[in-house]
Amino acid sequence: MDSRTSCSRSVLAGLLIVTAISGCSGGRAAPPVTTASPGAAGPASGSMVIPANEAFQRAVTRGTRTSTGAPGPRYWQQWTDYRLEAELNPISKRLMGQGTLTYFNRSPDTLREVYLHLLHNLFAPGARHNTDVPWSVEGVELSRVAAQGQELKPTEEEGVGYEVDGTVMRIRLPRALAPGGSATLDFRWMLRVPPDGAPRGGQDGETFFINYWYPQMAVYDDLNDWQIDQYLGNAEFYMGYGNYDVALTLPEGWLVTSTGSLKNPTEVLSAQTRARLDSAGHATGIVRVVTEADRTAGTSTARGTGGKLVWRFRADTVRDVSWATSSRYLWDATNAAVGDANGDGRADTAAINSFYRPELRASHWNESARYSRHSVEFFSRYLMPYPYAHMTAVDGPSSCGGMEYPMMTCIGGQWDTLGLYEVTTHEIGHMWFPKLVGSDEKRFAWMDEGLTQFNQSQAIADFFKGVDDEEINRRNYLGFAESGGEVELMRHGDRYPTYGSYGVAAYYKPATVLVALRGVLGEETYNKAFKEYGRRWLYKHPSPSDLFNTFEDVSGRDLDWFWRTWFYETWRLDQGIDTVSTAGDSLDIVVHNEGRAVMPVRLVVSRTDGRADSLTVPASAWFGGERRRTVRVAALPAVKSIEIDPERDFPDVDRSNQVWPR
Ligand SMILES: [Zn+2]
Repeated sequence: MDSRTSCSRSVLAGLLIVTAISGCSGGRAAPPVTTASPGAAGPASGSMVIPANEAFQRAVTRGTRTSTGAPGPRYWQQWTDYRLEAELNPISKRLMGQGTLTYFNRSPDTLREVYLHLLHNLFAPGARHNTDVPWSVEGVELSRVAAQGQELKPTEEEGVGYEVDGTVMRIRLPRALAPGGSATLDFRWMLRVPPDGAPRGGQDGETFFINYWYPQMAVYDDLNDWQIDQYLGNAEFYMGYGNYDVALTLPEGWLVTSTGSLKNPTEVLSAQTRARLDSAGHATGIVRVVTEADRTAGTSTARGTGGKLVWRFRADTVRDVSWATSSRYLWDATNAAVGDANGDGRADTAAINSFYRPELRASHWNESARYSRHSVEFFSRYLMPYPYAHMTAVDGPSSCGGMEYPMMTCIGGQWDTLGLYEVTTHEIGHMWFPKLVGSDEKRFAWMDEGLTQFNQSQAIADFFKGVDDEEINRRNYLGFAESGGEVELMRHGDRYPTYGSYGVAAYYKPATVLVALRGVLGEETYNKAFKEYGRRWLYKHPSPSDLFNTFEDVSGRDLDWFWRTWFYETWRLDQGIDTVSTAGDSLDIVVHNEGRAVMPVRLVVSRTDGRADSLTVPASAWFGGERRRTVRVAALPAVKSIEIDPERDFPDVDRSNQVWPR
């Protein structure tokens, strides 16, 4: 999701302000000589370790996780095969669905009950929610529920049956599901697609973005057993992996795009559309697959039977399937070079699509395919090759804001050039986190939004040279931290006191903290660890400890102090230069750490002969609670200036005292 969809837009005002990053001249790095000032009382004194995590420790003991951050030798996760059918009536906005789920129990536990999400019940009368929700919608109407071949009745009594509590459905199975076994679940249901104003999707009468439209297995994992937190609208999702076969029935002339690959193009697309799509597969530019003039049955789509077409899609190893449809869409396509995605030693490409209404050209949607291509190619290099068949940007109801789905984004509203690029690259960034690296977005929003906000900044820097998105994140975090009300990152996404505190903890602060981590580790080590985290947890369910431990494993450093400071606390960083004085043939630089956050102090001492020395006071200097350290350097050649963190990697609340002379 994009932070601006619910955060105040003013937070990102000034997006185009460019901040020059001062570099430090080369020169010999000398080890600093430091002495602690005696008797300083310590604001940061006390434990610098992170709080014990019993569930994680238990998983390490059982061998499903490790203390090095890699999945353990006994790591397991569940799997589901979905066969889903739906017919949408765009006039009544009703969706009729039916499906069969085959749930594979790969855990070592015997399951007597299973849980599913009925996320659409966010719209049920009386549903609890913490975001605005259109009131005139209903929840999911289930007309058939069966498990292991036996039809089930709703009942709150113990014994075989099912019950629905808000967005969570519990099924008490007819027969216990043993480890290694599987169980089929059958459903038939109806729902009404919510109007514009619904979070993350819905319909505006012209475009339908269909999300959370089927009963979806909840995650049963090695850390929490069933994770069945309610969907309240704000905090996002935790989804398991599976394969999907989907058949969607729509009126002819309505273009459909979905997570997964289209399996029957000859049945649903015209010969003209197919030919243009083929050419887009190796085009260097953007191919206009469906133009204004093409938008009729027989020209864009094929002609249907009885005025209807059935679109068949297949998606492998995804967390979810969503889809979109409109009779007004234009369709642009091209391709992206993603590197060797399937490991056969050859370069692969992914299809790039954009579906949008003609008037959205005013919001630069005719550039959308180009933006998507750059984003997919950039992240494929920066993180790991994009493995899915396509990446598709969809113009949806304005309340989509920016929202990610596997292989798809839903983007609503009006945008300028940089704005559309930013929201596009942000949502595409989510293909890596959390679509490919399947963390729990609900309990740890920063693992999803924070990593993506950081990655977005990297893509923007590559596409719009000179735009410093990292600085914007830093300013948003520091501005909020200054005004009070900040809450720690390690908090459930539905338990923030305000949207502002959620936005900062989910997006801006973690993105800023990752820049600081890159500064601590150096870019090469940071990138290596970041990629390794993705590689280790591809299609798996990492927890925060797995990310922390991977960074420590790859860098060979104990970073508990860093995680504690930035993820578990709301401590602020305030380093500065107190005094500079001559002592014989030396110069004594007294640096302070006034905030509670502990970080290394990185000093650059520039001399009149043009030389610049980089000195670092390690973070451990502050563990005991000292506030001041003296750094002694040679007095000659004469020192021209001293600066702390000239790269501005660290989010210091007051930069004015970091330069000498002031
Ligand atoms: Zn996001």
